[in-house]
Amino acid sequence: MEIRYDTGCRICMQSTGISTVIHRIGDNAEEWKAKPEFKVMQEIELWRKSDEVRCENCGAEEVEVFNVYVDSYPLYDFDRLARRCDVDDLFMIDITKKNGQTVLKQGGNRYPSREFVLSCMDRMIEQVNSTKVTCFKEYHRGRFFMCFLGLHDWENETFQAIPQRFVTHGLTRHEIISEIIAFKNQY
Ligand SMILES: [Zn+2]
Repeated sequence: MEIRYDTGCRICMQSTGISTVIHRIGDNAEEWKAKPEFKVMQEIELWRKSDEVRCENCGAEEVEVFNVYVDSYPLYDFDRLARRCDVDDLFMIDITKKNGQTVLKQGGNRYPSREFVLSCMDRMIEQVNSTKVTCFKEYHRGRFFMCFLGLHDWENETFQAIPQRFVTHGLTRHEIISEIIAFKNQY
């Protein structure tokens, strides 16, 4: 089984433009393909940490992992997630920063359940607060993106909010949290 991913450095904002490829023997590819990119990204970050892999340009360890593929199968695929929206909910927050100005955009299905959206917002804040503060180096441009799939059990009125993708670079924790809280307060 082959895992392939791209990287970008949150400190020097450089990317090598070359994907990293890991070969794993004995792993079940189908099991890995069923995992959300967010989960596999976290595993890759742990592998990189234990192998002490750092940014080739500046030597920082605050490297972002994204575009994860298992045997050429993308773990994050917007169209694939969108096709589930007849049963499940999809919710995403995209904050972009250009010339120091942040803009928040909401995405996903048109009428997600309110409980699901509020729980996603809390989960986002939790994720931002638990990510190492050095990953939030300030730049005049940047992006924060997080996407959740809401698996509903309509009969028992319960749901699970499962993070699918997490991207953050160029924004400070404060910039992200204040955008999310402003959105949450008027939701
Ligand atoms: Zn770097």
